[in-house]
Amino acid sequence: MENIYDCIIVGSGPAGGTAAYNLAKCGYKVLIIEKESLPRYKPCGGGVSPVVQKWFDFDFSSVISQKVKNFRYTWHGHDPVNIELKLKEPLWMVRRNEFDFFIIKQAQKVGAELYDKTEVIGVQFKDNLWHVKAIHAALGEPRLRRELPQQTKIEKAHYLIAADGAKGPMAGLLGFKQRKHTIGGAIEAEASTVSVKNGATAHFEFGMVKNGYLWNFPKIDGYSLGIGVLKNNQKQNLKSIASEYSKIFNIDFNTTKQYGHPISLWNGNQTLHAKNEKALLAGEAACIVDPLTAEGIRPSIFTGLKAAKAVGKALSGDISAIQNYTKIIHKEIGTDMQIANNLSKMLYMFPNICYNKILKRHSATNTMARILCGEMRYSDVTKETFVQLGKMFK
Ligand SMILES: Cc1cc2nc3c(=O)[nH]c(=O)nc-3n(C[C@H](O)[C@H](O)[C@H](O)COP(=O)(O)OP(=O)(O)OC[C@H]3O[C@@H](n4cnc5c(N)ncnc54)[C@H](O)[C@@H]3O)c2cc1C
Repeated sequence: MENIYDCIIVGSGPAGGTAAYNLAKCGYKVLIIEKESLPRYKPCGGGVSPVVQKWFDFDFSSVISQKVKNFRYTWHGHDPVNIELKLKEPLWMVRRNEFDFFIIKQAQKVGAELYDKTEVIGVQFKDNLWHVKAIHAALGEPRLRRELPQQTKIEKAHYLIAADGAKGPMAGLLGFKQRKHTIGGAIEAEASTVSVKNGATAHFEFGMVKNGYLWNFPKIDGYSLGIGVLKNNQKQNLKSIASEYSKIFNIDFNTTKQYGHPISLWNGNQTLHAKNEKALLAGEAACIVDPLTAEGIRPSIFTGLKAAKAVGKALSGDISAIQNYTKIIHKEIGTDMQIANNLSKMLYMFPNICYNKILKRHSATNTMARILCGEMRYSDVTKETFVQLGKMFK
């Protein structure tokens, strides 16, 4: 008998893993296709909003490396601001290879199948089914595959969820044109250090880089230190800035493992379902990264969850479920992302003023931390905050 999946999910990051878990849990036949060998590394600070826990019926404790209760800001390495966050649940720090693979393993436990080391290279919709073409290499990194014996597979499914991140080809293969997003860029470096105890501090530096920030996030066995640029219109030597910043923590940047990666930041609502209503974009493939903070894990999980719900409903006969997915994401995420976009323009246009007038205020940081941790939304604070902000810039 022909092997036909209810849904093929491309990408095993938080968006793909969440979608797979939620569909497989409901008894649907699901295949995850991932080009890397799992567990795979993803360049990321690994700061995760604890609100994601309430969207799952399994416990994430085993993959939380640290819980952060303090933020420290600096401006050109000086003028520090130390803030103890007033949060119900502190911000999580995770290692992405552990965190992402943990979700995938939960999905496998409830029946999802996984092909890793398998790269999707084409999709075609015919006879009312997706034909997904992928190449598998027995060993090695994708870039080495040309030299390895390859095997092409075609897998078939009723629905597709593209969760292949900022660098994936799926949106293009599915015919999504003129994507609305801002492409940011980041370099992340892993530095090992002695154990940093719980209650540790997340560091942010705003003066050394234009249109972005530097961070140093504590893990139980080291730091994820990085530099992110959220608008790519300035020529800057990011490596040398990150290297300068590392010295503050006695880290020799040149001896760290460094990884560059684009970030697909939200820059307007857009259609997230294919014209034939048989495929959806989720996670960073849907350009849902917060344009102010570059937070992408929580929105990826959220869209993965909603994409799974939409496909599940469509498979049980709801003909508007796929279209509604786009509407739900616009309603649930779009409004807040627009506010974040406005704040981002202000912060990165007037970083010095924002540092002195906003970031130094503990109340502003606590509000921001509550937004990050899911205790508040941008839209809960805007009216009052925008009035205050307006006064500051007069
Ligand atoms: C340096 C950096 C730091 C960051 N720090 C944070 C942070 O601290 N907190 C936060 O919330 N967000 C952070 N982000 C953003 C966050 O990492 C991403 O938004 C998040 O990983 C997106 O999840 P995703 O599931 O959509 O995609 P990804 O996690 O990118 O996963 C996509 C997967 O698809 C696979 N894939 C791609 N193409 C194919 C193909 N053709 N076939 C099969 N598989 C394919 C990839 O190998 C990958 O495993 C950071 C981003 C960067 C670059």
